[in-house]
Amino acid sequence: MNTIDNYNFSGKKALIRVDFNVPLNDKFDITDTTRIDAALPTIRKILDGGGAVILMSHLGRPRTGPEEKFSLKHILPYISEQLGLEVKFADDCIGEQAKEKAADLKPGEVLLLENLRFYKEETEGDEKFASKLAFLGDVYVNDAFGTAHRAHASTAIIAQFFPNDKLFGYIMENEVRSIDKVLHDSGKPFTAILGGAKVSGKIEIIINLLDKVDNIIIGGGMMFTFIKAMGGNIGNSLLEEDLIDTAKKAFYKAKELGVNFYIPSDTVAADAFDNDANTRLVPADAVPDGLMGLDIGPDSIKSFTEIIGNSSTILWNGPMGVFEMNNFEAGTKAIAEAVAAATQKGAFSLIGGGDSVAAINKYHLKDKVSYVSTGGGAMLEYIEGKELPGVKAVEEL
Ligand code: AMP
Repeated sequence: MNTIDNYNFSGKKALIRVDFNVPLNDKFDITDTTRIDAALPTIRKILDGGGAVILMSHLGRPRTGPEEKFSLKHILPYISEQLGLEVKFADDCIGEQAKEKAADLKPGEVLLLENLRFYKEETEGDEKFASKLAFLGDVYVNDAFGTAHRAHASTAIIAQFFPNDKLFGYIMENEVRSIDKVLHDSGKPFTAILGGAKVSGKIEIIINLLDKVDNIIIGGGMMFTFIKAMGGNIGNSLLEEDLIDTAKKAFYKAKELGVNFYIPSDTVAADAFDNDANTRLVPADAVPDGLMGLDIGPDSIKSFTEIIGNSSTILWNGPMGVFEMNNFEAGTKAIAEAVAAATQKGAFSLIGGGDSVAAINKYHLKDKVSYVSTGGGAMLEYIEGKELPGVKAVEEL
């Protein structure tokens, strides 16, 4: 892997693709700095190594051309403060001003370029646009795992202009290593826990994992499509009718391969999708009409906790229930705690996908698991077995 630890940055201008797509409030204050904070070690490493840094990122989804609310200048004070230096700014990511400011940059200095997505050429993966960006730096570093599944100009196309000088930053390196470890070098037993609302979007992951895992635990709204496929009654619970057959096939394929496929035995059923709804604990395959299962029940929690506790590798994606509502969070909370406890005992645990990350944060367990992926869609595609353009472009010779 071409990483920044094996490169001499002295006197070089490093063009880093970061993911500074942070949420801003209406006063343009950053409401969650996680993505910027995560990129700081890569930036500091290059500056400490005698290099200069040119940062490029997207922010939000501008429609056509520049839009004030999506300007990266709003984040300038925060990065300057974190790095303890005055970060310079080019109000266009290409063009004369960017060229001049990049040319004037001295070792130890940092330049932030304006939002890449003010040009539609960015998401189109335009080669000419990529070459203009490439002109600004001597070495290309990709540290934006969140966009690694996109073949955009700055995330993939640009790499061809740096045949011998293209590298992964620390975020990319850690993400790729953690997911590779789980997929190709996992300690046994390996347990994958999959939840969330829908089977669609998760079924490819389940299928790709079948020849790697020992146990699959299903929870969340998606469990009901599996239960329906097995002939159970699911009342008004979430169902993806068109995926019943696919769910059945995945279940039998798992059996054929000797993978234990665990579906919840009980569920907390509610008479409305509401925290204050009336609830009843019922068998997961006998949900009365008019009720919907919104969390896994205590029997399921007990058996899943035991399986997780005996695992050496754990991959968790998707909540067990509607954990945003207090009355339906017990399953997700218990699973998060079980994953943390297993990790403390020595298991390797990887948590990824928006809502399971939110759950781990909600229960303050981020530091008690092995790795929390920042990647969302990119992580899911990687686990599905797809090649990520952002990873491939840097690895390719
Ligand atoms: P996903 O984006 O597919 O991972 O789904 C995450 C969402 O699934 C969360 O917002 C949960 O509230 C929701 N969810 C989890 N379990 C259920 C359930 N039993 N019924 C409806 N929604 C659920």
